[in-house]
Amino acid sequence: MANIILIGPPGCGKGTQAARLASRLSIPHISTGDILRAAVKAGTPLGVQVAAIMAAGGLVGDGLITDLVRDRLLADDAARGFVLDGYPRTASQAAALDTMRAPDSFLVVLIQVPHEAIVKRMASRRVCDECGMTQSVSHESKADGESCPYCGGNLMIRPDDNPDTVRRRLATYAETATPVIEFYRPRIGFTEVNGLQHADRVTASLMAHVDRGTL
Ligand code: ADP
Repeated sequence: MANIILIGPPGCGKGTQAARLASRLSIPHISTGDILRAAVKAGTPLGVQVAAIMAAGGLVGDGLITDLVRDRLLADDAARGFVLDGYPRTASQAAALDTMRAPDSFLVVLIQVPHEAIVKRMASRRVCDECGMTQSVSHESKADGESCPYCGGNLMIRPDDNPDTVRRRLATYAETATPVIEFYRPRIGFTEVNGLQHADRVTASLMAHVDRGTL
């Protein structure tokens, strides 16, 4: 059983690492960003409600996102564990999560990447419109239009990855993340990983933490 929480600034590699851990451990990858983006794309009432906030790089309300996560964690596939990516993002969300599972069951990893490195990374980040994989393109590729190496879909710039919104999202992170990190830091299941390392080394560090925590 592994209840894993990944924390870190936008662009630190949370999404990629969460997908890898989920597949290795056969537990669901629960990304609040992906859930909200799917709702926006499908034009559901939730999507309509959150579209403007997301486009501006702000945070959707704690109550709304917490209800969404609580529902998702009640699904059968989350009973054996999960990798949470994008939640909790505020102290109030962290407190709410403690009521959904035993607080000492969480393995929390902070993926550290300096802000300057993130702004660079986001400029080359693309998301496939078919399979949803996030990947990096070379610096010369300016716009949308390359094909996904996995499924042949179109690699698109995420609408909230434009430089202004990235700066706004980083500012939002700087305001809200510290209390979340301090909430978990004293716990035995907390650790930090250097997100500037090669993605495979980051995965190896995460797996080592999971192995230690679930022995
Ligand atoms: P990032 O790359 O910034 O980590 P995500 O894909 O996790 O982005 O989330 C995209 C957007 O969805 C956020 O900028 C925010 O508007 C909204 N969002 C996702 N998770 C949460 C959350 N836990 N609380 C509030 N808003 C959220």
